[in-house]
Amino acid sequence: MTDVLSTQAHNTLPNLIGMSPDQMAEAMPVIGEKPFRAKQLWNWIYIRGAKSFDEMTNLSKAMREKLPQHFRLSRPEVVRHLISTDGTQKWLFRLDDGNEVEAVFIPEDGRGALCISSQVGCTLNCDFCNTGTQRMVRNLTAGEIVGQLLVARDDNDDWVAEREKRKITNIVMMGMGEPLMNFDNVRDALNIIKNDAGISISRRRITLSTAGVVPQIKRCGDEIDVDLAVSLHAARDELRNVLVPINKKYPLDELLKAVAAYPGARNSRRITMEYVMIKDVNDSPEDARLLAKLMKKYNIPAKFNLIPFNPWPGTDYETSSNNACHRFSSILNDLGYSAPIRSPRGRDIMAACGQLKSDSENQKLKAIQAKRETPAAQ
Ligand code: SAH
Repeated sequence: MTDVLSTQAHNTLPNLIGMSPDQMAEAMPVIGEKPFRAKQLWNWIYIRGAKSFDEMTNLSKAMREKLPQHFRLSRPEVVRHLISTDGTQKWLFRLDDGNEVEAVFIPEDGRGALCISSQVGCTLNCDFCNTGTQRMVRNLTAGEIVGQLLVARDDNDDWVAEREKRKITNIVMMGMGEPLMNFDNVRDALNIIKNDAGISISRRRITLSTAGVVPQIKRCGDEIDVDLAVSLHAARDELRNVLVPINKKYPLDELLKAVAAYPGARNSRRITMEYVMIKDVNDSPEDARLLAKLMKKYNIPAKFNLIPFNPWPGTDYETSSNNACHRFSSILNDLGYSAPIRSPRGRDIMAACGQLKSDSENQKLKAIQAKRETPAAQ
């Protein structure tokens, strides 16, 4: 009983994880310490990966005792950590309020990308996306966004000082949610992840993916300045309106103008165009030619990322055939654009693009389906 109460009280304290360096410095007088102490805390949290105040042995005993009375150092709780036969890992996290999100780690030779969530659910309702079928619950805080990376490093023994030896080298904001709909928290989290005195993942190794929240694309360039990926998926407004409904608000013309003005694009850092390959929907040779034409028209230094559609329970869409994917890719190549076909990773643990969804939501869905299939009791 006492334990439960103290845990609850503990949970309401401000979390040091997610504070900017300035916020942490400003918090020090609360415990009667000088602002510079925040630098030591930052080092413990982001260089050494400390999970408790007790570990922080170069702080005075008095400070170590005061810290937990005013602050917490809390990471999202791991409900499940799954490892795919191909090495992909997926975490299901439970947040303080019981909501759940997922993150995915995709190891490759010499590098590894962690795919992080920005919201519980999503408001965008893209027709082919499993996360989109889940109702939007809330934005994640900066601490909850950074916390996903901290846990992934804990579970992969990745608190290694030398950057070259680390397993998690890249960050992709491509998990659940639309990062540009949670702009401030995503910006604050990425600034913590980029900070040279801590985790220090450079902006060139961070990619933010958006379905096209046009007004925030400029802000993203100005205030976050990481590589941009755009979930394009269609070269015509009629089709994009169906697949990515935010297109009705910000149609292709507005989107592509904003993308062409993105700092990366102006400096010839290429913009990734994600394109999900859906059988008989958007995978014709005509679609490929139209895409290249659009990139030329708007002068976008694009590279395509063709993602074979990942099926999920309840969808009517199907994956394009291998032939259709290769034909599409080679048309884009011939027109001057790199367009690799991404090999799906972690499908066996539902970790592939668009398959993420809080587990509790999946369970609810299963329960509803089971009820429908069971004849009503007499
Ligand atoms: N909301 C952001 C971040 C999600 S990124 C965005 O839309 O860009 C996830 C990527 O996976 C997006 O390009 C999304 O369109 C794509 N995706 C979603 N569902 C998919 C599915 N079932 N198969 C393949 N890709 C999918």
